[in-house]
Amino acid sequence: MTDIREIAQLGAEVLRQQADTMCHTNSADNLALITALRDTLASTQGVGIAAPQISISKRIIIVASRPSARYPHAPLMEPTVMINPSFSPISDDTEKDWEGCLSIPGIRALVPRYTDIEITYTDLNDQQITARLTGFVARIFQHEFDHLQGIVYLDRVEDKLEIFAESEYFKLMNSRTQ
Ligand code: ZN
Repeated sequence: MTDIREIAQLGAEVLRQQADTMCHTNSADNLALITALRDTLASTQGVGIAAPQISISKRIIIVASRPSARYPHAPLMEPTVMINPSFSPISDDTEKDWEGCLSIPGIRALVPRYTDIEITYTDLNDQQITARLTGFVARIFQHEFDHLQGIVYLDRVEDKLEIFAESEYFKLMNSRTQ
């Protein structure tokens, strides 16, 4: 049976809390949480999700870049569960690009993010993983990591004029591809 949870919406307190570090990675509770996160993400067109978005304040995210109507140019990757993730930028280079969020429907905005980062996390086998991420996947990671800190992407927008209704964002994208 799939376990699709309701997605916490902007204004919910859980989205503004620092999430708790996960211990006992393979406990039944944690595995159930991971299933719920996976099933909930799969039911959307999102490319990532963080546990606070299903109202569970724990440090776990899934990064799952895939092309979709929401993100037509996203690279395809296996959905990756990351427990207690952290990162550091490899260079100071940042880039602005469009983001949206399942917790803030109908809005897109330009957000600066590091383009090149080194990440560490615990995987489902309790192994410590280190990896380098670039571009769009690095962006997804930083967006989901922010959710664990109680930060949403709108907090990082530098210019309010770069906040768009999704309908206007799609018009802009369509005008660029013609
Ligand atoms: Zn989000």
